[in-house]
Amino acid sequence: MPQQLPPTHAAQLTRCARCAGTLERTNGRSLSLAFALSATLLLLLIPANLMPLLRTDVLGVSRTSRLASSAWIMLYDGWPWLAAIVFLFIVVAPIVRFGLLTLVLGALEFDVKADWLGPAFRWADKLQSWAMLDVFLLGLAVAYARLADSIAVRLGPGGVALIATAILSLFVRAALDKAAVWERIAPDAPPADPRTAIECTTCELLAPAEAEGASCRRCGDRLHRRKPQSMSRTIALTLAAVLLYIPANLYPLATLPIHYKPTTYTVLEGVIELAQANLWDLALLVFCASFLIPFLKLAGLGWCVVSVLRRSRSHLVAKTKVYRMVEEIGRWSMVDPFVIGTFVPVMTYNAFITGRAEPAAVPFTAVVVLTMISAKTFDPRLMWDAAERRD
Ligand SMILES: [Zn+2]
Ligand SMILES: [Zn+2]
Repeated sequence: MPQQLPPTHAAQLTRCARCAGTLERTNGRSLSLAFALSATLLLLLIPANLMPLLRTDVLGVSRTSRLASSAWIMLYDGWPWLAAIVFLFIVVAPIVRFGLLTLVLGALEFDVKADWLGPAFRWADKLQSWAMLDVFLLGLAVAYARLADSIAVRLGPGGVALIATAILSLFVRAALDKAAVWERIAPDAPPADPRTAIECTTCELLAPAEAEGASCRRCGDRLHRRKPQSMSRTIALTLAAVLLYIPANLYPLATLPIHYKPTTYTVLEGVIELAQANLWDLALLVFCASFLIPFLKLAGLGWCVVSVLRRSRSHLVAKTKVYRMVEEIGRWSMVDPFVIGTFVPVMTYNAFITGRAEPAAVPFTAVVVLTMISAKTFDPRLMWDAAERRD
C-alpha cells in the first residue's frame, strides 16, 4: 500500500501502517563504510577461493581442499547438482554480488552517474540471499567439529580468508542502507496519483498505473501490480518441496568417519550424533537449520497460500510477519549440504576414512532451493487483496 513517509531523523524507524513491516530505517548507516567493507570483502574473496581451505592429516598422509575443489570432487563423484549448487552459492554468487555492489557504491562514492547503476544494484540486491558465505561459515564450523574428533584438521589460509569474508558480508548488510542507495541512483518521485500507483518490488519506486508490464525507470525490473502468476507458481513449488521433504528426511544424507568407522546418517541421526558427541550447540543449530526451518517454511507458506484461497481476514499481520521470516531464514537450511561440500574433499583416504554424499543430499538441497524460490514468487499483498474482496 503506497504511503507518504514523514521526514525521518537520525536513528528512526518507520513502520507500515498496515502490516507493521519496516518502511525506512535511518540508523546512521553510511554508504562510504559499506563501500569500504564491500571492497575489502571482494579482495579477500581471491585468497578465500584460491588458497587451501582445510587440511587433514591421517598417518602422515594429508589432504587439502580449496573452495572450488569441493565442487569438482562432488562432480566427479557423480553429484553434479550438489557440485553446481556449492559452486554457484559459494563461489559465483558472492563474486558477482560483491563485485557489483563495490562498483555501484564506488560509483556513488566518486559521484559517477551512469545508466547501469540501477540494474547493477538490482542484481547485487537479488543475489543477497543466494550468496551464502555466512551459511557456509556455519557449515565449516559444523564440519570442523565433526572431523576434529577423529582426524587432525587444520584451517588453511583460504579458510581464514573465507571466515573474514563471511563476517564482512554480515557487516556489509548492516552498513548498507538500500533505500539511500536507490535515492542516490534516482530520487523517489511520487506519481500524480499515488493511490493507483504500482510499486516496484525491487527498488520501491512508485510508477503510474499505465506502467504495468513496462520496465522500472530506476532499476530496470519489470513492473507488476502483483507478482505474475504468484499463486500457481507458489503452490506448484511448495507442493514439489513437500513431496521431496519425505525422501530428504527418510534417506541418509551423508557418510563420514566417526572413530575410524564410516557412519551413514540421516538429517535427524546427524543431530543425535552431534548431541552424543556433547556438541549440544551445534546439534541444536543443525536441528533448527535442517529439520525445523524446512518444516516451518513449508507450514508457513502453506498458511499464507490457504489464507489467499479462503480469503481469510484473520491474522493478516501475523501471516505477513511469518512470510517475511520464511523469506529471511530459508537460506540457513543450506548448512547440511555445505557440511558435505566441506568435508568430502578432505575425507577420501581409504575404505575406513571416507566421506561422501548419500541419496537424501539431492532432495534435501532441492527442498531448500524450491522453498526459497516459492517464498520469492509468493506475493504477500495477495492475502490483503483477498481479505478485501471477501463479501
Ligand atoms: Zn505493509
Ligand atoms: Zn525499480
